[in-house]
Amino acid sequence: MNNKEIIDSYPQYIMNTYGRQPIALSHGKGTKVWDVNGKEYLDLFAGFAVNNIGHSHPRVAEAIAKQGKIMIHCSNAYYTEEQLKLAKLLTEISSHDKVFFGNSGAEANEAAIKLARKYTGKGEIIATENSFHGRTLATVTATGQDKYKLPFKPLPPGFKHVSYGDSDAIADAIGDKTAAVMLEPIQGEGGVRIPSIEYLKEVETICRDKGVLLIIDEVQTGFGRCGVMFASEISDVKPDITTTAKAIAGGFPMGAMLVTGDVATGFEPGDHGSTFGGSPLACSAAIASINVIIDEKLVENSKTIGKYFKNGLNKLKDKYDFIVDVRGHGLMLGLELSMEGAKIVDDLREKGFLINCTAEKVLRFVPPLILTKEEINTFLIALDETFSNI
Ligand SMILES: *Cc1c(COP(=O)(O)O)cnc(C)c1O
Repeated sequence: MNNKEIIDSYPQYIMNTYGRQPIALSHGKGTKVWDVNGKEYLDLFAGFAVNNIGHSHPRVAEAIAKQGKIMIHCSNAYYTEEQLKLAKLLTEISSHDKVFFGNSGAEANEAAIKLARKYTGKGEIIATENSFHGRTLATVTATGQDKYKLPFKPLPPGFKHVSYGDSDAIADAIGDKTAAVMLEPIQGEGGVRIPSIEYLKEVETICRDKGVLLIIDEVQTGFGRCGVMFASEISDVKPDITTTAKAIAGGFPMGAMLVTGDVATGFEPGDHGSTFGGSPLACSAAIASINVIIDEKLVENSKTIGKYFKNGLNKLKDKYDFIVDVRGHGLMLGLELSMEGAKIVDDLREKGFLINCTAEKVLRFVPPLILTKEEINTFLIALDETFSNI
């Protein structure tokens, strides 16, 4: 089938929940993807910040193929060596001690909310305006954007929202019933919003002083995305709980909640679970993927290439008044426009570049961390050309 045939047949069979770009992708390799008509694209969106090691990495493909022949699933009624190895690896690359496996970011956050409530015996979670934490009822309620949750009332109680980047607002909001504060180190979906460098540290101190847990949602920012393994490192913060997903298994669905110290004792057998969570197949994919990030030094590449990319974007900012701001860490970059960005996304796609626009006006760049300077140069020329026609 070609692009048009696939796109035209979708409404008959697929529920209409996404505003999709009008191309059908067939395969990908490294930083590139191809549509079914054979057109090549440089992928600067990487499947919503998932393909950090690039598309179809041979080591992950190999791990999945090999494990698929041995055992795909056996459930958490049993022990597996793959789960043990991955959990150990996750504790080595993070500040945490123990892991719970699920299948998505929303599930990792859902687990964090349940654990915080069970461990503290308190109900309230303080989250921030403009945040994004997932689509399940609890995580969409934690999400600080009305458009995602108001149609689904009644929402579960116990969530309070304060302005992002304001640590005093968090201190004021914490009360006797507060179990945890939950935030993204950089708001991704909300428009690549970056708080001051002190913010997370101040929030950590407030949480410690008041005996409240700190949950950091690194679903989008984790695994080298921001030029460090986890974005909490930028502010030298050690959360009680870090939630992860997106890039964890090289594109294979997985979520993991990473927990520190005594907090992990909050869950006992029967408290929480997942049929598929931490399957040998998902764990093998994640072990391979994380080892690629380490062996290919992708955290360092994210940092240096991210700087180079951001410099290039800043040069465009000097040239065009409609660029309001350029911001980001590593290869999580945002370019804020004074107008809506959808047409720019379309124009670049036609030129062979996939990018995303979030919060209407923010062009979001979250490419594979293997991106090269040459690829950035080609993209910046195309972006300049697109901007010059506005
Ligand atoms: C994508 C995202 C989620 C939700 O992850 P899913 O795997 O889609 O459930 C949660 N938090 C943040 C910060 C995200 O970017």
